[in-house]
Amino acid sequence: MQKIGVIQGDGIGPEVIGEARKVLDVACERNGTSLDFEEFPLGATHYLKTGEVLSDETVSRLEEKDAILLGAMGDPRVKPGVLEKGVLLRLRFHFDQYVNLRPVQLFDGVPCPLAGNDRKVDMFFVRENTEDFYVGLGGRVGRGKSRAELDLVRKAYEAKFDVGIDLKGEDELAYQIGVITKGGADRVVDFAFKLAKEKRMDLVTSVDKANVLTDVYGLWREAVERASKKHGIAKEFLYVDAVALHMVRNPERFKALVTPNLFGDILTDLGAALQGGLGFAPSGNINPEGISMFEPVHGSAPDIAGKGLANPVGAILSAALMLQTLGHVKAAEEIERAVRDVLAGRKHMTTDAGGRTSTSAMGDAVASGLRAL
Ligand code: ATP
Repeated sequence: MQKIGVIQGDGIGPEVIGEARKVLDVACERNGTSLDFEEFPLGATHYLKTGEVLSDETVSRLEEKDAILLGAMGDPRVKPGVLEKGVLLRLRFHFDQYVNLRPVQLFDGVPCPLAGNDRKVDMFFVRENTEDFYVGLGGRVGRGKSRAELDLVRKAYEAKFDVGIDLKGEDELAYQIGVITKGGADRVVDFAFKLAKEKRMDLVTSVDKANVLTDVYGLWREAVERASKKHGIAKEFLYVDAVALHMVRNPERFKALVTPNLFGDILTDLGAALQGGLGFAPSGNINPEGISMFEPVHGSAPDIAGKGLANPVGAILSAALMLQTLGHVKAAEEIERAVRDVLAGRKHMTTDAGGRTSTSAMGDAVASGLRAL
């Protein structure tokens, strides 16, 4: 039996995960799948009570799971970053979840901010999740530091790099370095092409800014070339600015996209807006050979927590993504179909999308839609 660690977390996390579990139970029952769930009470309440964010012992217990289902982290009572970094980022790095999979699908019945009522938005992003400008290589020089140190950095810059800016008159500078490794690029790009192949797609769009950031994204492009040849699927290279423009003007043109970390971070939030808002967006932090973690894209939304206003669709679709990754493809497809049917029926819609349906009523609607399939 596959084992699932459940972290409901903060704010609306418990509410949306409650609905995801409701739907999961029905999907598993219908398909004769049994999953063993264990709750891990991590988040603000646990932290404020015990002073502990995430213990090594909890990490070891999570290591025994096949997957993790998470609600949201973050609470106004705790300094921003403590829980997000201490739980989410720590788990992502510990389990080397190097793929951030973000399906962007606008379901019939959900209002889209783009003009025109029948926009077709159906693409997936594979975002690299560990490298690029997020490796933490950077620093500030000048602030509270000596003139001599600044001179040293300036000289090093002048000797090594043609930075194209005059640092002589400056008394403060900051730098941040993006790093992409061949192995890091290859593994995530390979995942994207494999997924495109599974979904019978014939083109993968690679996002970068290789005309300006020539080194990091030059190496990235080589990985894309290799994967394209290996999997026999065509590729196109587009700059991030062009992708942003097309996503708004012509989202229909995209099916499969693979992107380095920073650009993926930005574009996938644009994607969430196109699919009706944060409440509809699912995600998976995936290690194809290890333990993956599935979570709705939204945060803890403290402003609506406990009011029954949260949209649980992102969490429900994240649970479906988890089933899919664990090999329960039919059960996952059934959940997606039930969500699609409920939304297309236009009877049930949460307030973020202009309706009046409560969190639990939305979960109930999907669960009974699933039973009726
Ligand atoms: P984070 O935890 O990521 O720092 P946050 O909790 O402040 O951010 P988000 O949860 O990402 O913010 O969402 C911003 C706003 O969008 C929320 O305050 C809420 O009003 C709305 N929102 C987010 N998720 C949902 C949802 N599932 N259902 C309804 N509204 C939502």
